[in-house]
Amino acid sequence: MENIEVKEGSQLSLSETDYLTGLANRRGLSNFYLSLGQSDKIHAMYIDVDNFKRINDEFGHSMGDRLLVCVSGYISKNAGGFVSRVGGDEFVAILDGRLSEENVIKRADDLIAGLEELDFRKDILVLISLSVGIVLDQSAEQSLDGVLSKCDAALYQSKYNGKKRSTVYKSDDKSIQISRNIELEMEDALKNGQFKVFLQPKVNMITSAITGAEALSRWEHPSDGLRMPDEYIPVFEKNGFISKLDMYMFKQVCMLKKSWEGEIYEHLPVSVNMSRFHLYNKNFPDELAGIVESYGVDPEELELEITESVFIKDTDELIVMVKHLQEKGFKVSIDDFGSGYSALSLIKDLTVDTVKLDKYFLHSSANDMKGKIVLKSVISMCRDLKITVVTEGVENDEQIDFLTRSGCQVAQGFYYSEPVPVDSFVEFAKAHLSNILSKYRIDLGESLVSDDGHIKGRIVGEGLKSVPGIFKGSKAMHFPGGPTEENMIEIDPLAVVNDSWTVSFWCKTDELHMWSSVYFMKFETGFASFNPLAWEGHSDFRIRDSREVNGWYDSSSCQLEENLWWHIVITYNSDTETAISFINGDPIGQTKNVPVNRFVKRIVIGGDVFQKSYIGSVCELVFYNEAKDYDFVRDLFREYTEREDFAGGPLKRLI
Ligand code: C2E
Ligand code: CA
Ligand code: CA
Repeated sequence: MENIEVKEGSQLSLSETDYLTGLANRRGLSNFYLSLGQSDKIHAMYIDVDNFKRINDEFGHSMGDRLLVCVSGYISKNAGGFVSRVGGDEFVAILDGRLSEENVIKRADDLIAGLEELDFRKDILVLISLSVGIVLDQSAEQSLDGVLSKCDAALYQSKYNGKKRSTVYKSDDKSIQISRNIELEMEDALKNGQFKVFLQPKVNMITSAITGAEALSRWEHPSDGLRMPDEYIPVFEKNGFISKLDMYMFKQVCMLKKSWEGEIYEHLPVSVNMSRFHLYNKNFPDELAGIVESYGVDPEELELEITESVFIKDTDELIVMVKHLQEKGFKVSIDDFGSGYSALSLIKDLTVDTVKLDKYFLHSSANDMKGKIVLKSVISMCRDLKITVVTEGVENDEQIDFLTRSGCQVAQGFYYSEPVPVDSFVEFAKAHLSNILSKYRIDLGESLVSDDGHIKGRIVGEGLKSVPGIFKGSKAMHFPGGPTEENMIEIDPLAVVNDSWTVSFWCKTDELHMWSSVYFMKFETGFASFNPLAWEGHSDFRIRDSREVNGWYDSSSCQLEENLWWHIVITYNSDTETAISFINGDPIGQTKNVPVNRFVKRIVIGGDVFQKSYIGSVCELVFYNEAKDYDFVRDLFREYTEREDFAGGPLKRLI
């Protein structure tokens, strides 16, 4: 055992030596560990340089290297024992097991405290610190990995508690007993395929369409039956086995996705949970990319869920990791947002694709006014940042009602489905794929209901009547005009639920009246309308943002003549903040920098809340919950006019 104190770099072979610091590398450490007697007792320390990445970023890699050389000399001199560098800024020291517990802890704390005294640039030294994880009294009988994973768990605790400190690994006896079976069985269970992928759908609460799934593990134990994650995940997180399970689940999901090829649900995205352990593995993005490639699946359809608690301490490392994962094509989400210490600044610094609101956040907020305000604001903020929000744990109608009105569209929860085996999931997916509707065509002539029956209209006033539409035998609605808020149709506001939207319709005006809109949509934050006669005899697509004094955005277009059918399309794109109006297939008016309005309160056809009602006919009303482009609108216009039964002519082209 004496050799722990004496073995030095000079006794290492070249392949066992770290080129930069001259310390043992991982192989050197491993060989040294194997050379220990089985009955030897050791202590071990995992030492990590906090914020090292910042030094590389801000001062360059050569400065980073110089710092590492300096720090490694310091550690090897003061930690004692056999010191090795096992990662960029990570060191492991194996100490003689006969040293007292106090002695080991004191060495670690002295190491942490003494760093400031190093002979190195002070402006750099103040930025870094050391975090240490310690494991005491280990038998060298067990594998090196076994020792290191305990050290690593302790190191994580140090980081979690704020860095610049040491933590001793503690496994309380009770949990050890419970987890002993699990630890004994887990490797075989993995080999024997006892871990199964269950899937829980993510559903658009407005359309009931499935938008994806989350993969959750279940342990099918041969004698105990189905074991739930709550029983084994905490154990795996402690002993490090979670990394293996995650990779296994990831591969299973890739296989599954591949097997869906050619099915109608083939492109449904599936998310996989990833534990914090991977974040310290710089090759993680490459490894995942390699797997995806070998299975021939599209990384764009895979999402990695990383739990919020991870994001608290190791922010710098995390930002880089998230970026790298996205460069490889993966989507990344913050899981369990709102469960603990959510720092809002995180959302600012991280470029995540999705935020998953924690189920406890929902459950504790839903019955409480203040909680609701917070929830609603978080959702709104995410939408402004173009981050998708998924709410977990949705169980009842009240929650759905509240969430959809707050602007969250996607839910994952027992209301729709529990996590289920793949076969059952596929059944669910098939039933809910057909519901995907981003488009509602409303029959204005007669029923006032959308094709799928979801969106309904309601006549306000009297004197509206069915008249011939633009096709032979089709119907339009005729509006007789009248005072403000009379003789019009109100449409269910759920027809437009997205930040970007498009509305298409045909109208024929009997009598033009200044600023009377044919289409009017009221938001919580303003309104949008289409007026056949506005500025200088021209029609106008107007968006009003009531949050601004001068928030009037007009896309003035061209002159519309009375007694002719016109195809009108208005579209708003929240990504580009552009509003465009199209007349008879051509883009006529365009306005940029139009802020997004949201929470549609009313949709009115043939009326205006400020002006007299519209006089004329309207038909073929279609809502799209996305922005449409020039090609789409031109083709749409052609589709209408090239139909054999088209009877809406004569038409005027404007450009
Ligand atoms: P999670 O990632 O937050 O997964 C969602 C959990 O919420 C699941 O628990 C799911 O069954 C539950 N849930 C979904 N909808 C509802 C609802 O409406 N009400 C309530 N009360 N609960 C709902 P599950 O499957 O027991 O998984 C628990 C946790 O275990 C997961 O939480 C995840 O953190 C972890 N986990 C499961 N499989 C894996 C895995 O393969 N790798 C990793 N790293 N973690 C996993
Ligand atoms: Ca999750
Ligand atoms: Ca979650």
